[in-house]
Amino acid sequence: MRSRLIQRNLRADPPLALRGEGIFLHDSNGRTIIDGSGGAAVACLGHGHPRVLEAMAAQMAKLTYAHTALYSCESAEALADLVLEGEPGGLAQMYLCSSGSEAVEAALKLARQHFVEIGQPQRRHFIARRQSYHGNTLGALAAGGNMMRRALYQPILSDAFHHVSPCYAYRERAAGEDEAEYVARLAAELEAEFQRLGPDSVAAFVAEPVVGATLGCVTALPGYFAAMRAVCDRHGALLVFDEVMCGMGRTGTLHAWEQEGVAPDIQVVAKGLGGGYQPIGGFLANRRVMDPIRDGSGGFMHGHTYQAHPMAAAAALAVQQVIREEKLLDNVQAMGALLEARLVDRLGNHRHVGDIRGRGLFWAAEFVADRASKAPFDPALRLNDRIKQEAYARGLACYPMAGTIDGRRGDHVLLAPPYIATEAD
Ligand code: PLP
Repeated sequence: MRSRLIQRNLRADPPLALRGEGIFLHDSNGRTIIDGSGGAAVACLGHGHPRVLEAMAAQMAKLTYAHTALYSCESAEALADLVLEGEPGGLAQMYLCSSGSEAVEAALKLARQHFVEIGQPQRRHFIARRQSYHGNTLGALAAGGNMMRRALYQPILSDAFHHVSPCYAYRERAAGEDEAEYVARLAAELEAEFQRLGPDSVAAFVAEPVVGATLGCVTALPGYFAAMRAVCDRHGALLVFDEVMCGMGRTGTLHAWEQEGVAPDIQVVAKGLGGGYQPIGGFLANRRVMDPIRDGSGGFMHGHTYQAHPMAAAAALAVQQVIREEKLLDNVQAMGALLEARLVDRLGNHRHVGDIRGRGLFWAAEFVADRASKAPFDPALRLNDRIKQEAYARGLACYPMAGTIDGRRGDHVLLAPPYIATEAD
């Protein structure tokens, strides 16, 4: 033990990442490692992309900070204009902060403020899903359903957050139930939760279009999000999509919801927005949400010292320009199809691989002790840690997670290569 820095593991110091180059990381063990998950699906352009570095250097020479109480800045304005070009799904305004959790907090508060401003202050409840992850700050943690992350803090989490089942067909579709029946059952469960809480007391339903950290790249069945939207619409509640991990091109379209045909009222983004070049997150919101606030109190009752930071916005602007100009979504789709085929080919029949799933360049394998019963491994084995070590020993950084299955531990490994990955990579 040498490090004074609080590491994730307080008993062992990790190696130092010294240099990043494309899909590779070079570290203090003298190893060159394929950054196969971009951390937690962050490094969407890989490392050291020259266009992003140039844009950051240019911004740094011009302006590194100006407080938003007095100023906006060029890079943040340009980023919002680019991301909202054509108002995708009616999303018309953007808020920028420094992380996914902060962005989730801001989105929840925006939903709450919206209802206060339209004269419905009784709307204080949020319905999210079991087995979801929305971040580690207290509001985001309360919204999330990852029981292992919540357990320690349960007594200090808000009681305004409630959870329904995710759409997790691999484990939760009943025997003999077809896809449409399963979706109808989930919609009925959401409807029942609205009724239990009082339908006019719910502010929003919050969900990840493709579940990331807790379940590992779980896509919803066709029609699921349309059914959820219909329940929200029936009761005047907002639909909030958390695309922190699955958004900004990761699944092969700029927004994961495009493949569901359902746009949210508020969309949270982060990781793929800035690709890790700077800490950045934010939300996009439609006019339904924003106009009453603009015409009412005239200000979002929320803010941070580093919101819409010039450097973070300049880096993210360059990342977003590169994704568009280099037509990287086409590559995400092509390389995603290849990754799927290889995963299925190499692992599809493995006796401990229960499910392989994902979309675009966002894939996961769920490991099970027994394929027939889908029984997870004994948590004491800490399978995810061992997979991480074995993969590293073979030159790959992947993102193994201990998710929760019915409150117990489950094991998934997530792969989220950069959008620039080639077949040779
Ligand atoms: N929401 C989702 C879907 C996430 O995957 C994450 C992080 O993994 C977060 C929110 C929190 O983001 P951050 O770690 O940047 O606070």
